[in-house]
Amino acid sequence: MAAVRLHNAGDRLGAAAHFRAANVASIGVWFRKVVGPYDERIHGPKLSVLNPPKLPLEQRMRPRMVSAADKRAIIARDGFHCRFCDMPVAPKATIKTIAASYPEDAPWSDVASEQHLFFQAANLQYDHLLPHARGGESNVSNMVVTCAVCNYGRMSNTLEESLLFDPRSFPVRRTDWDGLQSFVR
Ligand SMILES: [Zn+2]
Repeated sequence: MAAVRLHNAGDRLGAAAHFRAANVASIGVWFRKVVGPYDERIHGPKLSVLNPPKLPLEQRMRPRMVSAADKRAIIARDGFHCRFCDMPVAPKATIKTIAASYPEDAPWSDVASEQHLFFQAANLQYDHLLPHARGGESNVSNMVVTCAVCNYGRMSNTLEESLLFDPRSFPVRRTDWDGLQSFVR
């Protein structure tokens, strides 16, 4: 937020310093641990029987991707915090816009190792509560805003398998964090 405020006030050096300060190695370590190879201590014991089962690709609900209108509705409902861990998140389009303006200080690329580490973790996801691989639909009622760590870390496990509460039964977190939507190009 401070970086965006400084940028909007014309202080590019100040904004750049804040973007660099948020590119923290420990966030990257955390991200890779959760997202990386299966680890029972993080992801829980592997289950031998899945209920509902993991579906073959051709049996999964279509379309896989949520529509633009549904994305807008999900953000209008959930705002810009992860519904599991409350971390502030920002849409990928916004992250890319900032990266285009600050390529050295807030880098972004399709290659994970070249991404700014806060933005990598805070990359807004439209996460299926009942995973798509388990028969979940790509619609507003089955999807919530999450951070990349929670989305990738859960893999295709159900809420129950991940020992997570259903976030739909908890209030949405509202702060002055706006997903960096105020960033002026
Ligand atoms: Zn999260």
